[in-house]
Amino acid sequence: VTQQAVEALERLVRDVPDFPEPGIVFKDITPLLADPAGFRVVVDALAAVGRGDDGTPVVDKVVGMEARGFMFAAPVALALGVGFVPVRKAGKLPHATHEVAYELEYGEAVLQLHQDALAPGDRVLIVDDVLATGGTAQATCELVARCGARPVAFAVLMELGFLAGRDALGDVPVTALVTAP
Ligand code: AMP
Repeated sequence: VTQQAVEALERLVRDVPDFPEPGIVFKDITPLLADPAGFRVVVDALAAVGRGDDGTPVVDKVVGMEARGFMFAAPVALALGVGFVPVRKAGKLPHATHEVAYELEYGEAVLQLHQDALAPGDRVLIVDDVLATGGTAQATCELVARCGARPVAFAVLMELGFLAGRDALGDVPVTALVTAP
């Protein structure tokens, strides 16, 4: 992780207390998205997770979760030169889907993935903005596995360390550009 990326995240991600409900400190990434230099160094740092030591991609696809995951996973896929695959909330994808229900830090949800979006054996980098309880990440790993593909790495901007979300991910290595204790 580059120092530039850490600096950009510290400067451009805003803490919003008590959103969307009391007790939650929401990590607002919109200032980062609006800053092209900061956005670029953060995307480059996430994309590095999908490269081997020689700099070539070691993944076949990048998966991002609706909605903020899309904003980082799509440019990461372009940077790596591999395809982007969306995981969406229930009822949004038009073709045949796999489906997993899971719990959020606040509420509950169902995620879906097109059955033909990943091929058996595909190596997948999963990208999201924030790792909180790990429920979203775990559900996404399960969706990837249902296609016969392999989640080989999970990359996030920020990890909320006190929620221990990475424990939900089992063997999948987690890279967080910054960790809130
Ligand atoms: P979880 O499934 O609990 O790991 O929650 C992760 C998902 O919820 C991610 O897709 C985040 O975008 C969102 N999320 C959870 N907690 C926060 C937070 N404190 N600030 C911003 N987004 C959050």
